[in-house]
Amino acid sequence: MKTQKNKRTLIICSLLLVFCSLFLACGGDGGNGITGGGGGNGDHTHTWGEWGNSTATCTTVGVETRTCAGDATHTETRPIAATGHTDPAPTGYCTVCSALTLSIGDTGPGTGIIFYVADGLEGRPLGFTVEGHPLHDFGYGLGSGYIAHYLEAAPSNSGNALWGTGITISGMTTFTSTSSEDYDKIGIGRKDTWYIIEQYPSGMYAANLAVESQGGQTDWFLPSCGELNLLYGRRTRPGIGITSGALWSSSQYSTADAWNQNFGTGTRVGNSKSGTARGVRAIRAF
Ligand SMILES: [Zn+2]
Ligand SMILES: [Zn+2]
Repeated sequence: MKTQKNKRTLIICSLLLVFCSLFLACGGDGGNGITGGGGGNGDHTHTWGEWGNSTATCTTVGVETRTCAGDATHTETRPIAATGHTDPAPTGYCTVCSALTLSIGDTGPGTGIIFYVADGLEGRPLGFTVEGHPLHDFGYGLGSGYIAHYLEAAPSNSGNALWGTGITISGMTTFTSTSSEDYDKIGIGRKDTWYIIEQYPSGMYAANLAVESQGGQTDWFLPSCGELNLLYGRRTRPGIGITSGALWSSSQYSTADAWNQNFGTGTRVGNSKSGTARGVRAIRAF
């Protein structure tokens, strides 16, 4: 009985010792990670300046440093967290490191909804080329395209309109088969919109409505057959919300017809350019 009691006392004392050791080890800087400074000052008490010279980046932790006003060789450092990306506008790109900052469903620079991000993940490309138009400058010189990572749907529909008249517009994307490589192609809607407008510069057709200014942006266009299908895939998102009716694409089917998509069923078909007014939802690529 006496031996057992002694053993118990010994265990309790040992635990207390371990606890005290841990407490002392964490003392001093209070566990805030500050290193440097401390002893060796001898003749003075440190007068620390402001923390600065952070080595942290948008995505990696780093340290920041402060220096003693009494002796510049006295320095202290402490850990600092990654800053995260900066994009208050938003522009879609970090103003510090250019990383992509927007996601599907976010509000874009044109106050519309982001419905596609070419982020290089899950089979998507890392960026795509928005093809240029020989007579309309997209800001990179006539005929020059640019690399984009986002498609943004305009904040609202542009109304209903005919696509055009029964003539062939040369130079623009034209196909009749659902197995054509153009069927799902992205990056061609913007230049094809301008092929249509070159044909009908003063019209009130779908392409003319699509390029009207919205949300402070002036680079909207009528989506290609493939771009429109990506929008269809996000049709129920808040801010998009198109679940019935057909919308025009900027892809030409034939002399008489152009591609459009039913947002109730998803079916994409060629229909008469001049027969029925259909919905227009502009998009932009940036
Ligand atoms: Zn000092
Ligand atoms: Zn960044």
